Amino acid sequence: MSLPPDYHMHTPLCRHATGEPVDYARRAVEIGLTEIGFSDHSPMSREDFDNWRMFDRQLDEYVAKVRLAQKEFPQLTIRLALEVDYLPGHEDWIRKLAARHPWDYFIGSVHYVSETWDVDNPAKLSEWKKRDAYEVWKIYFDRLTLAAESKLFDIIGHADLPKKFGIRPAQDCTPFYEKFLDAAAQAGCAIELNTAGLRKPCEEIYPSRDLLQLAFEKMVPITFGSDAHAPAEVGLNFAEAVALARSVGYAETTRFEKRERESVWL
Ligand code: ZN
Ligand code: FE
Ligand code: FE
Ligand code: ZN
Repeated sequence: MSLPPDYHMHTPLCRHATGEPVDYARRAVEIGLTEIGFSDHSPMSREDFDNWRMFDRQLDEYVAKVRLAQKEFPQLTIRLALEVDYLPGHEDWIRKLAARHPWDYFIGSVHYVSETWDVDNPAKLSEWKKRDAYEVWKIYFDRLTLAAESKLFDIIGHADLPKKFGIRPAQDCTPFYEKFLDAAAQAGCAIELNTAGLRKPCEEIYPSRDLLQLAFEKMVPITFGSDAHAPAEVGLNFAEAVALARSVGYAETTRFEKRERESVWL
């Protein structure tokens, strides 16, 4: 395989991305990808939860947009997925979402470390001044561990997202990574190499080499995602991500169809 599938891309329905699925698909073909997957921000049970996701009433429209891309680009495998926010207590809602369409996979992402603070939101950067970074990491990885254990997700998204703005705890976070990765290995849940981190102040792929090295040792499967919010970002920095994965020992990546996992050579 030349480049692995790009399993993390968005659509304008989330209100902060540009370009239709057909435009992302066209770009994917242009750069030689053979498989992609749309994983836009899923609706929450409460319409006003935040302002960066599709509304529940748009879920069918989302599926139709992806189906249209599949029809227009038959030479490209296009998966239907969602990036679902994991918050403790939202499990029933996520289960119901899963039953509504024949999804190929769910990316489980932790953005919220409380009901109101999404750690990656630049509008809430001032929150970091009120909290200790180590405490944020702890809450984040506790939630990520619960997400893996829930078995609601096929892939865990951007596993060290709190590093986005370059604020990091001085303490060693290895015990957090271990606990999360043990849960992922146990649940058979993959983690993604998400190249969007390279475009953020942390200037680093999610997750870090340290975390990825541990993931390989624990035999946690991987996927690749650009987290594209515009067609030009499809497959961005994938060569670098593949090099990182290989350098810690990975020789396989993962594909999903109807929530069934398949390992393929990287
Ligand atoms: Zn987004
Ligand atoms: Fe995300
Ligand atoms: Fe995303
Ligand atoms: Zn994302």
